[in-house]
Amino acid sequence: MSLLLKNASIITCDETGTVIEDGALGIRDGLIDYLGKYENELHKKYDRVIELKQKTIMPGFVNAHNHAAMTLLRNYADDMKLMDWLFNKIFPLEDRLTEEGAYWGSSLAMLEMIKGGTTSYCDMYMFMDKTAEAAAQCGIKASLGRGLQGESGDDMDYRISEALELYRSFHKGSDGRIRVNLAPHSVYTCSPAYLEKVARVAREIQASVQIHLSETGDEVTNCVEKYGMSPVKLADKAGLLNERTIAAHCVAVDDEDMEILREREVNVVHNPGSNMKLASGISPVKTMADMGINIALGTDGASSNNNLDMLEEIRTASYLQKVISKDPTALPVDQVLKMATVNGAKALGFENTGVIREGMAADLIVINTQKPWYYPRYNTKSAIVYSGNSSDVEYVIIDGRLIMEKGEIITMDEERILYEVQKIAERMSSI
Ligand SMILES: [Zn+2]
Repeated sequence: MSLLLKNASIITCDETGTVIEDGALGIRDGLIDYLGKYENELHKKYDRVIELKQKTIMPGFVNAHNHAAMTLLRNYADDMKLMDWLFNKIFPLEDRLTEEGAYWGSSLAMLEMIKGGTTSYCDMYMFMDKTAEAAAQCGIKASLGRGLQGESGDDMDYRISEALELYRSFHKGSDGRIRVNLAPHSVYTCSPAYLEKVARVAREIQASVQIHLSETGDEVTNCVEKYGMSPVKLADKAGLLNERTIAAHCVAVDDEDMEILREREVNVVHNPGSNMKLASGISPVKTMADMGINIALGTDGASSNNNLDMLEEIRTASYLQKVISKDPTALPVDQVLKMATVNGAKALGFENTGVIREGMAADLIVINTQKPWYYPRYNTKSAIVYSGNSSDVEYVIIDGRLIMEKGEIITMDEERILYEVQKIAERMSSI
């Protein structure tokens, strides 16, 4: 079905930050086939026309670091130190996670992401075949990786073969909306031998690799003590760092680390909400961006954030860099919007999305900007970044398909997901 959206403000997130007022956007065969002012008779070329007066179209958000099924652990353990939280609360509860739980937890995350305007995301977790099923049902674009951790030996080989099986079964599946990456969890949960093996396998199949890297100062101190070098240097030595690498966090990085990240063209994912909540520190995002490193944005899992709201991350990212640099010009509107859209698409390897332009995939959202916090209308982009609200997202379109219309999710059963999730959470926490 072809679709024409008309009379909206259109934020393109292109190179020059173009905004088209009273614009029209045509969609055909999943792609944007018209972008510009509305012209007479244009509506006759499309099967359906949606009137969007006082509303704003922009590219869907790309949540470049998430653990979707961790929604099941949301609000289970808060206000704790990262290692204490991870090893004493999260890992034990995760041991009780079943395939069924992963499916419904992932579905809950997708429901939340769609409602907040996210059209693509990156995931590292377990039971990823179930998450792939949920993604296919939802229609969201997803880069999925089976989280890998351990020392070496049979267990390592088994996990890697599991990840490869996921790759063979789902990579470029569901009409190209699903990609599969290799996901060694971190340098503190994988041995160097493990990291080297993953790097070798990833090179062979040209897969993306995602890893948590230098998330905290403690991680760096322990790594230096154990291996005599920083996590970035260790990952580089293992051969893990290249232009297909997605490195989450990069909070505790020094000049040499950042230079390695730049040289290897690594994609860095900033997770300000999670870094603040776990008191991990503030990533030197402005410095890295100024060096030319591609910086994307992510929420991290819902148990360390505790939501999957990209608009909140956008605002937090901008504020944090302003505070740390004591410079209110740091991470301005256009830059932070790109981090949440086109930079994330590049990081995940979804080449044809993140920007509104003719020929690009029609992955976009419509925000109802007819609300008090968007008035007066000086600057639509600023209004969305600094005073917008993700619950104002009314339409979500992915590959030209309507996933949400007037706030109602079309592809998923919202009531059922909430019911199943509550049932599973009660079962998991009562054992
Ligand atoms: Zn994470």
